[in-house]
Parts: sequence; structure tokens; C-alpha cells
Amino acid sequence: MESLQDSVMVLPGVGPKRLTALNQLGINTIYDLLFYFPFRYEDLSVKDLANVIDQEKVTLKGTVVADAVIARFGAHKIRVNVRLLIGHDVIMVTFFNQPWLKDKFHTGDEVAVYGKWDAKRHSLTGMKLIATQARAHQNEYEPIYTVNKAIRQQTLVQLIKSAYLKYHALLKDIIPQTLRQRYRLMDVQQLVRAMHFPKSLQEAKLAHRSAVFREFFLFQLRIQYLKRHNETAQKGLQLNYDLPAVKAFIHHLPFELTHAQKRVVNEICHDMHRPYHMNRLLQGDVGSGKTVVAAIAMFAAVTAGYQAALMVPTEVLAEQHWQNLSKLFAPEHVTVQLLTGTVTGKQRQTALHNIASGRANIIVGTHALIQDAVTFHKLGLVVIDEQHRFGVQQRRILREKGTDPDVLMMTATPIPRTLAITTYGEMDVSSIDEMPKGRLPVKTIWIRHNEVPQQLAFIRQQLAAGHQAFVITPLIAESEKLDLQNAETLYQQMQAYFGDQFKVALLHGQMSADEKEKVMQSFVENKVQLLVSTTVVEVGVDVPNATVMMIYDADRFGLAQLHQLRGRVGRGNAQAYCILVADPKNQTGIERMQIMTKTHNGFVLSQKDLEMRGSGDIFGSRQSGLPEFKIGDPVTDINALVTARDAVQAILDTDPHLQQPQHRNMYQYLQHIDLMSGSFD
Ligand code: ADP
Ligand code: MG
Repeated sequence: MESLQDSVMVLPGVGPKRLTALNQLGINTIYDLLFYFPFRYEDLSVKDLANVIDQEKVTLKGTVVADAVIARFGAHKIRVNVRLLIGHDVIMVTFFNQPWLKDKFHTGDEVAVYGKWDAKRHSLTGMKLIATQARAHQNEYEPIYTVNKAIRQQTLVQLIKSAYLKYHALLKDIIPQTLRQRYRLMDVQQLVRAMHFPKSLQEAKLAHRSAVFREFFLFQLRIQYLKRHNETAQKGLQLNYDLPAVKAFIHHLPFELTHAQKRVVNEICHDMHRPYHMNRLLQGDVGSGKTVVAAIAMFAAVTAGYQAALMVPTEVLAEQHWQNLSKLFAPEHVTVQLLTGTVTGKQRQTALHNIASGRANIIVGTHALIQDAVTFHKLGLVVIDEQHRFGVQQRRILREKGTDPDVLMMTATPIPRTLAITTYGEMDVSSIDEMPKGRLPVKTIWIRHNEVPQQLAFIRQQLAAGHQAFVITPLIAESEKLDLQNAETLYQQMQAYFGDQFKVALLHGQMSADEKEKVMQSFVENKVQLLVSTTVVEVGVDVPNATVMMIYDADRFGLAQLHQLRGRVGRGNAQAYCILVADPKNQTGIERMQIMTKTHNGFVLSQKDLEMRGSGDIFGSRQSGLPEFKIGDPVTDINALVTARDAVQAILDTDPHLQQPQHRNMYQYLQHIDLMSGSFD
């Protein structure tokens, strides 16, 4: 019996050699062949000569004025010349090295020829004879496929044609009809036919749209089905926290949680309490209050008799978190332990002992937490801040230090929807999409380097009013190649300008952790008013009294990073300012600066970043874990992706086992594919 899984060998003209060539294109079965779509179409529709421009590829239609003639040139080269009458114009058409075409043109014939127009010579370099009187006009849109040396376009088209004729009835729709109607999608047979042989550009577009949706729909079906399956199969820790104690803890916080914070706290606690493994991503803009949410979750874990670990990417941040959490938990009799690379000697021994014995309830640290020497007593919750700063491997090691602890990842670089839906398809996502009350958005301006003096005067006013300021520079080492401000020179300049009245300090990545800590501490205590720094302050550090963030060579930073830096200010109640200094060299740079001045939403910025840099660039396509779609583009086709996700979700909500008749093909599709494999078809 015929099946779409038949090898392409069954097609006439496919022997071992051609089979190898097809295999190299990833085509093994009839199904593969039918879904091997063209990446573009050549427009072969006839154009009006009056509108054709030089070097344009067009199809022209005319009457042969005189029989074609052959001309020789060079050693073995031949060309066929034929003159065509188009309206009142006579043009020359030349085909190179195709002598057999001579017999195709006879005086008085009406023909259509595709080629490249040379306006100066008033001639067309013929590429293809589209139609003669004898032959009916072909499709106006010719599909162009990715091929290799061993197989030609024409051959592939022929194979697809014969496969389609013989097998199209076996193509079954997986997307239920009601959905196809709702989103005006072609059925799968139409879709395949129109992708390869569109009758019009409009039809090709509709087919493409339908194919994109289909690809995303199948992808979503796989990952969502897999996730639901896993949840019920995979047991994890059940953290029976002390609800009244957690409520009291929240009640005693110095502020009321925002609605968004309350919502995500509920989502997280709900997950922790269930006997399944929690794998949740908490995203929220800088300053939206993720730390306190993590603190509540960690406190809950402790009341359930477990330890909780918080891993952060830098020492400065670890220390700040440690200090804040120690203060926060002091009345609760919860012990917070710090472990970083700078905790050494006897201190380190004590720390390791506290962690292993369970004396430490909450452990805050850097990569130091995942060293072999670190063993936990009873690790129930792992929180990873700025999770994108850690590799998959590092996150896994920390997780494995417990027996399947619940995992909460946090990010202030909100992952664009695209990445969240695709890469993190198997992760639950909680979003804090609301800022604590009373926060004024940071006023952002973009200036050129020559406008700096005015802004320095402004900063002086801010400092005089009792506030503090950051001045950021992207590099510390002198670099001849890049004309960047050097942190040390910048520090000298700032010192010269502000030094008479205020204390200026320098913070950079080459300083020892001790030195950094000292500088940071004096800034926190307002002993330093202006801090010149490389991007070491990028993450986490909290100085509510700082109102100005000035960033030199801002065009050197990604949007997400700029947004992070900007988030360092505006943490108090006073109006804060972000001053971007940049002389961008190109349009993209200019656009990026403009976006920063207009947008304060990290979710929007990260999406823009993705669009401007492309999904391949943002984290490096391999690392990003973005699945490779054949036809859909998760960035430009994000709406289709979201629609497909929601549609699949709605179906699985009402019919989780896909037992209803209209879902039968979805069910069968899942039975046929290997859920864990990398391919989505
Ligand atoms: P994030 O880690 O998301 O960037 P933080 O957790 O550091 O943000 O919070 C930023 C600041 O806002 C902190 O000083 C924190 O104490 C404060 N904060 C958090 N939640 C609230 C709230 N609901 N109301 C007022 N202030 C809050
Ligand atoms: Mg934070």
C-alpha cells in the first residue's frame, strides 16, 4: 500500500545516485519531498516593456520578426539571436550556448521570454523560453528550491509533481477544520500544491502563511503535549510550607506587594507545593521587585524544612543580596550564608560546614556554589538570578546538588516572547509586569559627545541636591583600535570637574573583589557621590539615592544591557535621568538610541533587540536553543507562533488526550513522531 513514508526511490527517475542527492537535501520520503518548499518564486508574469528598468529580470512577450540566427563568438561559444516586436518596439533577444533554441523561433510566432533587460542595448539576455504558440502558458510563478550540484531545479520540480499527483490524497489535515476556517488557512493538500505551483502571487502568499502556521502548530503540539505528559509522570519534591508563617512574613515586609508580585508568588508557591518538579522562569523588569519574590519562595522552602540556594553572577551582587536577605530574615531566625570566591580559609571551612550540616538555611553565592566541595544538607529550592549569565551546565550542577529540588530562574532581561515560547517551551513563565507604586520612569536623553559639558553641569545640580550619579564606560583597558573612553581617563576628567565639591570614585573589573566591595560600599553609604564604572555595576546593585546614569559610547551596548544599566537608577522616589552619550556611525545605531529614549519596557526592548540583531545573533543561534524552523521565522512570524500556541493550549485544555474525532489526526501525528527527536515534522 502507498504511504507518505515511502522512499522517494518509488518515483520514476530516482535511482541510487539521485537518491543520494536527495538525501543530502534531507529528503528521504515522499513526505519529505512534498514538504520541501521553495524559498522563493521567480515572477514570470509578462511585463510591459515601458516599465522595465535596466538589469531587471522580466518576462516579455512579442512577435518574432525574423527567424532566429546563430552567431559564433570566442572559440566554442554560440549565441542565438532573435528579434521581437513588442508594440512598436523591436528588441534583440540573445541566448548564450543554447543552439537548440534556434528552431523554436519562427517568423510570426508569438513568444514569451524570460531574461535580464539591458536598457542601453535595448536587448534581453534570454534565460528561459517561457511559451511559444505551440505550448500553453506555464505557471507565472516558478518555484526556486535549494538544490545541490547533483540535482537540478527542473528535476526536483518534476519529482515533486509526480509525487504530488500520486500521493496528495494521503495528505491528512492535522489542524482541525474549525481552526483552519477561523484563521483562513488552506487545507494541507491545497497548501502543498500552492506552495510548489502557485497560480498567483496571492495564492503563494496564502500558502506560505498556512505552511508557517502549520509548522508552528505541530511544534506547539509536540512541546505542549510533552510537557503535560511529563508533569504527570515526573515526580518532584513537595514542599509543605507553613502557610501562616509565609503570610506573616509577607505581612511584615516594609511595603505591600504589587498585584503582579502577589500573582507570581502564588504561581511559585502553587508549584512548590505540588509533588512535581518546578521549572519556572520569573521575568520582570529591573526594579520590578523579583528579589523579594525569591525571598518569599526561599522562606517558604525553609519553613518546609529545606534549604534554599540563590546563585547570582557577580560577587558584588551576591554580597548585596546576602546583606539584604540577612536583614530581612533576622527576625525569622533564618540563617543566611554567603559563599563566593572571596570567602576563603577558615571562613570558607565554616561556610561549607554550615551548608553541609543544615545550619545554613539560605545560601547566597556565585559560581562558588557549584564547586565539588559544596554539599547541601537538604536542598529543596534553587533560585538562579540573571539566569542567562549561566550556562545550562552550571544550572544543572546546582540542581543536582539536591534531590530534584524545585527550580526558579530569574531574569531582568526579559526573554523576548519568541524565545520564551520556543526555547523555553517546556518552562513555565511568570512575569512581573508592574512596577512598585510611585516609581517615576527614568527620563532618558541621547546626546552627542560634544554636548557632554552641558550635561555635566546638570549632574552637578543633581549632586548638589544630595543625589548620586553613575558614569559608565564600556572598556577598562586602553585599546588603540576602538576609540573608546577609557575608564581611568574618564575618572580623571570627572575628578577634575567634580572633585572640588564631591567625592568621585572608580570601579572596574580588574579590581580585586575586596577593592570593589569597598568602593561599592562607600557609594551605597553616600561617601562617594559620583561613581565612574565599567559595567560591573550592571546587575543588581541597589542605590536608591542615585538619580543619574550617564553612559558613554552607549551605542556599544545592546539594548537589553542599556536597559539594565538604566534600571540602576530610579529606584527611589526622586525623578531619575539616563543620559546616553553616543555618536553612532550608522542608521541602526541611531535607531537604537532613539528606541532607548522612547521605550521603558524591558519586554519591548528585548524584542526590538532580537529583531534588530536577528534571532541568530542574540545568543548565538546554536546556544540559544531556538529550534530551527523550516519555513516559519519565530521573530517575524511571532503572531502566528502565539496564535498557534494558544490554539494548541485551548485544545489540550478541553481534550487533553485528544480523543475527540476532530483531534484524531493530532493524536495520530503524536503517535507517529518521536517526541524527543529534533525534527518537528
Ligand atoms: P529586581 O531584582 O526585580 O530588579 P529588586 O527586587 O531589587 O528588583 O527591587 C527593587 C527595589 O524595589 C528594592 O529596593 C525593593 O526593596 C523595592 N521593592 C520591591 N517590591 C516593592 C514593592 N511592592 N513596593 C515598594 N518597593 C518594592
Ligand atoms: Mg534583582
